[in-house]
Amino acid sequence: MVMVGTDLVEVERRLRAGELVCPCGVGRLAPWGHARRRVVRGVGVFRPRRGRCGACQVTHVLVAVSCLLRRADAVEVIGAALTAKAAGQGHRRIAARLDRPVSTVRGWLRAFGRDAEAVRGVFTALLGELDPLAGPIRPAGSVVADAVEAIGAAVAAARRRLGVVGAVSAWQLCSAVTGGRLLSPAGPAGSINTSWPLAVAG
Ligand SMILES: [Zn+2]
Repeated sequence: MVMVGTDLVEVERRLRAGELVCPCGVGRLAPWGHARRRVVRGVGVFRPRRGRCGACQVTHVLVAVSCLLRRADAVEVIGAALTAKAAGQGHRRIAARLDRPVSTVRGWLRAFGRDAEAVRGVFTALLGELDPLAGPIRPAGSVVADAVEAIGAAVAAARRRLGVVGAVSAWQLCSAVTGGRLLSPAGPAGSINTSWPLAVAG
């Protein structure tokens, strides 16, 4: 899986121009059909593009930064739930406000809570890389709130450092950095997508 921008026309152009680097770090991806149809609420119905690496021959699905791996809602909606949870709201209230099933929202919050410490670590490290002079992140009162705080601080630093992320939301950047695995069982820490600036640039 390779994270790409949300502009399908631009993604197609970059794929055809050989601008998408394979996660192997050696080859470039060339067009290789489409993955099966996906429905993502808040994003739409689409068939993600697939690319194949000329070097390692592995095929990768190109996933837009507006999505997360195996989640049927836009990262924007999931992020809104995480922000509300960080502010102390319960899952029932969040579900009602976002018009999503209670069980779905509870699933997001649990998955995020399980790895919140790792997420905090990843984004705190990213903040340090983007802005070595950034001060420490103030404790926000809970593990989840600390993680959301770290994401916000890293995104703000990315905006200062690389103007390119202007059109990309905080949660989309979060998706790009974690390779879409923000809520995945394997956790986000082992899957940091080092080419994330490319994903948010296009
Ligand atoms: Zn490759």
